[in-house]
Amino acid sequence: MKDDVGKRMPKAGRKNGKRVACIGAGPASLTVARDLAPLGYEVTVFDGEAKAGGFIRTQIPRFRLPESVIDEETGYILDLGVTFRSGQRIDSMKALLAGEVDGLFDAVFVGCGAPRGRDLDLPGRREAAASIHIGIDWLASVSFGHITKIGRRVIVLGGGNTAMDCCRSARRLGGKDVKVIVRSGFDEMKASPWEKEDAQHEGIPILNFHVPKAFVHDGGKLTGMLFEIVEARYDDKGRRSLVPTGEPDAFYECDEVLVAVGQENAFPWIERDCGIGFDQWGLPRLGQDTHQSTVPHVFFGGDAAFGPKNIITAVAHGHEAAVSIDRLLHGEDIAQRPAPMTNLMSQKMGIHEWSYDNDTVNDERYKVPWAQAEAALASIKVEVELGFDAATAFKEAGRCLNCDVQTVFTASTCIECDACVDICPMDCITFTGDGEEAELRQRLKAPALNLTQDLYVAGPLKTGRVMVKDEDVCLHCGLCAERCPTGAWDMQKFLLNTTQAGPACRDKPALAQQPGVAA
Ligand SMILES: Cc1cc2nc3c(=O)[nH]c(=O)nc-3n(C[C@H](O)[C@H](O)[C@H](O)COP(=O)(O)OP(=O)(O)OC[C@H]3O[C@@H](n4cnc5c(N)ncnc54)[C@H](O)[C@@H]3O)c2cc1C
Ligand code: SF4
Ligand code: SF4
Repeated sequence: MKDDVGKRMPKAGRKNGKRVACIGAGPASLTVARDLAPLGYEVTVFDGEAKAGGFIRTQIPRFRLPESVIDEETGYILDLGVTFRSGQRIDSMKALLAGEVDGLFDAVFVGCGAPRGRDLDLPGRREAAASIHIGIDWLASVSFGHITKIGRRVIVLGGGNTAMDCCRSARRLGGKDVKVIVRSGFDEMKASPWEKEDAQHEGIPILNFHVPKAFVHDGGKLTGMLFEIVEARYDDKGRRSLVPTGEPDAFYECDEVLVAVGQENAFPWIERDCGIGFDQWGLPRLGQDTHQSTVPHVFFGGDAAFGPKNIITAVAHGHEAAVSIDRLLHGEDIAQRPAPMTNLMSQKMGIHEWSYDNDTVNDERYKVPWAQAEAALASIKVEVELGFDAATAFKEAGRCLNCDVQTVFTASTCIECDACVDICPMDCITFTGDGEEAELRQRLKAPALNLTQDLYVAGPLKTGRVMVKDEDVCLHCGLCAERCPTGAWDMQKFLLNTTQAGPACRDKPALAQQPGVAA
């Protein structure tokens, strides 16, 4: 099904004489390189590791993301004439800024991630250190093939996605009795629901409301862990605290422990007197949108900017930083950021015909088929999710509610015949008197209960009423627009084009088009 996307990739641009250094070859830096190299910037990416990808390569286990995919995706960017200095860690920001590493750079982007895993300083930690591992370091060692096995009984501490990757990796490296043990309740765990589900599907129990108290060892040999049992109590402001239940401490035997209780930033290579300011949490002081540090030509993005998040956030930061660098190096104010391009276009093709598939289906979500459990657990490299076959992929796509197609209401042409109210299968349209939102929500044909979803209110109409639509439950089926005798409802596709580095994000080309203004 997948086509060759190579021909859709941007091409390396004619050199513009400006040099940009990216520190780290994770998704944030690679996005900066992807945006700037086609514009002619000479981009050099430094990474201490041999291959590009950052945490995508070193942390996300191969059974979730095969290496061939990472090679392909990072390759598209590195092939844009980007210089990749693999295996070259930057040890001094001062040296880099002074041009002592690879000459002077016009701009520097720091995308070095949040590489430090939190530890647990509990009794027994030091003595039993050989059997206790920091989760993200352990995952990297597994990824590099330095660690290929683990003890039979494993405890994973933590409730986030890293803990889920640790426990599932441990199962594949020989852990037979692998448990996740978490302070919080199941629903409050930071891991995504599907990650928890996947771990449980592989026979890994999750024990909640257990606070780690001590690593128990016998002369330095880890034998287990001790936990205090707690429960959640809420005060009258809804704040939660974990309170001991008074039950005896729980002891679980284990051979090894993986500590996955959080991740933090570390910039040991950025000298604190190099001009880059840091806040009390050790994070760089940055412009929220510009990503500019207190040294004007140094920018931060991805996990290094505002703390650990995810890949798509790192990519978004990379795009924003590339806009800043492009404007800065063209002598423009980087605080002035062009808004994204937005557009609404009618999808009407005929009286009952739309340019999108407006049929709604009641199918439940199709589950992505999995590799046989035995095969999946036998190797860390066997990809678990097999993907849909074409027929199922079409059915799954058919469940799409076309949320990019908006119901657009024009009050001036509405004759208040109520035909749309009658036809709407979800009862989401109401014509009523205006009012305060909380009260209005209760007066709708079907009360709008999701407070996080704004109401669509338009009017006033000729009778003084307003049209109120509960956007939360709309199926985008277009029946209201088909039924409306005056065309007051229309189905219009929303398009958002985010601003990216290049002429479109700069002032000068726009000014040059105005008569009498020099380029
Ligand atoms: C176990 C785990 C699983 C995850 N799973 C997912 C997931 O499924 N989906 C998702 O969206 N996100 C996931 N994340 C988060 C995601 O990996 C990160 O948010 C993302 O990779 C951050 O990108 P980045 O470009 O900021 O930095 P990183 O990807 O961390 O890359 C930083 C790079 O900088 C290099 N570097 C650091 N310091 C220097 C230096 N001084 N000189 C040279 N190079 C340096 C490092 O070697 C590294 O390659 C996961 C994270 C973890 C820990
Ligand atoms: S698109 Fe369908 S569900 Fe949405 S308001 Fe119109 S008729 Fe109702
Ligand atoms: S069908 Fe059209 S004209 Fe009639 S109430 Fe609805 S929007 Fe107004």
